[in-house]
Amino acid sequence: MDLKSKLRHVMDFPKEGIDFIDITTVLQDPEAFQCCMDSFKELADQIGDFDMIVGSESRGFIFGAPLAYKMGKGFVPVRKKGKLPYKTISAEYDLEYGTDILEIHADAIKPGQNVLIVDDLLATGGTSQANIRLIEQLGGKVVGLIYFIELKMLNGREKLNGYKVSSIVEF
Ligand code: 5GP
Repeated sequence: MDLKSKLRHVMDFPKEGIDFIDITTVLQDPEAFQCCMDSFKELADQIGDFDMIVGSESRGFIFGAPLAYKMGKGFVPVRKKGKLPYKTISAEYDLEYGTDILEIHADAIKPGQNVLIVDDLLATGGTSQANIRLIEQLGGKVVGLIYFIELKMLNGREKLNGYKVSSIVEF
């Protein structure tokens, strides 16, 4: 299936000049969603063994949690500041304007656990770097990062140098 053609491009969202790639058109199409999750599984199989999947708020949950279920692994949510109920550690990361903070539960990953990061889209790589910092601060090892979509032009891979990065579709 041509998953690229199932994605919707929304011009000028969330602000003027941005060509936003909307994944909801894939999610609402049962065959496309299944094909997408099967492709995620193929990429995850290529990474090798891992214990947990980390997905960050909010589209990382949409793909990360079903992939963890499908592969019999645990799922760990990374959330925006103030949303997680228990003790957390946090990482600040750059947005286009300003910064934001991501948090993870302090006991979510045990030292030595192998972790796979899942997200919908790789742009500049800032979000993924923050996820990596959180996981490594807890003593986890990031064995790979997999994405539905990769925006090649933004060179996110350069920021993730040294890590295994793969994606299902590229623009
Ligand atoms: P980065 O931190 O790599 O610059 O941005 C990636 C994050 O921003 C991802 O978590 C992703 O959800 C979100 N994102 C940025 N641009 C888009 C887009 O065009 N479409 C979607 N679906 N997400 C985007």
